Amino acid sequence: MNDFAERLIAWQRSHGRHDLPWQGGHDPYRIWLSEIMLQQTQVDTVIPYYARFLARFPDVASLAAAPVEDVMALWSGLGYYARARNLHRAARDIVDTHGGCFPGSAAEIAALPGIGRSTAAAIAAFAYGERAAILDGNVKRVLCRIFGVEGFPGDKAVENRLWALAESLLPASETGRYIQAQMDLGATLCTRGKPACGRCPFADDCVARRENRIGELPTPRPKKAVPRRSARYAVILRRDAVLLERRPPAGIWGGLLALPEIPAGIDDAGAWARTHFGLECAEASPLAPLTHTFTHFVLDMQPVLLRAGAASPPAAADDGALCWLPLPALGEAALPAPVRKILDVLAAPDLFAQ
Ligand code: SF4
Repeated sequence: MNDFAERLIAWQRSHGRHDLPWQGGHDPYRIWLSEIMLQQTQVDTVIPYYARFLARFPDVASLAAAPVEDVMALWSGLGYYARARNLHRAARDIVDTHGGCFPGSAAEIAALPGIGRSTAAAIAAFAYGERAAILDGNVKRVLCRIFGVEGFPGDKAVENRLWALAESLLPASETGRYIQAQMDLGATLCTRGKPACGRCPFADDCVARRENRIGELPTPRPKKAVPRRSARYAVILRRDAVLLERRPPAGIWGGLLALPEIPAGIDDAGAWARTHFGLECAEASPLAPLTHTFTHFVLDMQPVLLRAGAASPPAAADDGALCWLPLPALGEAALPAPVRKILDVLAAPDLFAQ
């Protein structure tokens, strides 16, 4: 198909998206932020986060100067928190090693933390008009369907074939619009579930449509069982505050405030709280369980409510790793979504009346 890019660009002009908040400018910082937020996340979800983030951190310098806790708090609820940590690290790299100027090519951008080849290409194309191919999940799906590419796109060999195809299709000019067109086609027409083939500019050429194989292309990931684990979490209340601990920077919920996990094999949660935190707690009572799905496993969470008596020593006071978070500050705290869900349920006034 010799005119792939031409047709796609023409389609974008009349049917693509033109008024998203991050469109219309060439500021690499804003483009970078939007590209990172849009990874694994729907546009509608991203828009309010993007606005709040930019209001607080309007440029690389302000982001680099901020404590990471502030960045995590603004990201709270958006998920995939490594994105926020890497954003902050990359901002500091830009200040430290690029004199505060955003790198000027896809290759240099790809060297920053948390920015892969495809995202770097998109930023360089939108900001500088660089001619570089992208290959995100949407583009993989579209290419697999139109050109009938077989094999799971996560496999290295298949991915390499797709990169070569994506590069061979690049237009000589208008790379920014072409990349936007690829994103728009994947997000609005050639969707995962029910693609709108009737409105697609490639309806007559698309292998998946012609051979009635839309459900088979792209080839799904080979199935393997998703591991499941369960854990109990202590919801320790003392007056109007809940005890939270900051997670280590790496691993799940890295850098966020979370409920302390009660180690496996502990029967008496009250005795554990006494030994572990020096708190005298009234009898523990289980709260409604919650299941949370991560990328690689499913976590069954059993929260356990413990009330620290007023006479409890103020052990576990704010020391960096542990803190008593006043309940009115819950809204602004950097909490993972399932922890917020547990605490929101608890926010009934009668529970905190003591
Ligand atoms: S014809 Fe249908 S399946 Fe093929 S690219 Fe267009 S929307 Fe996707």
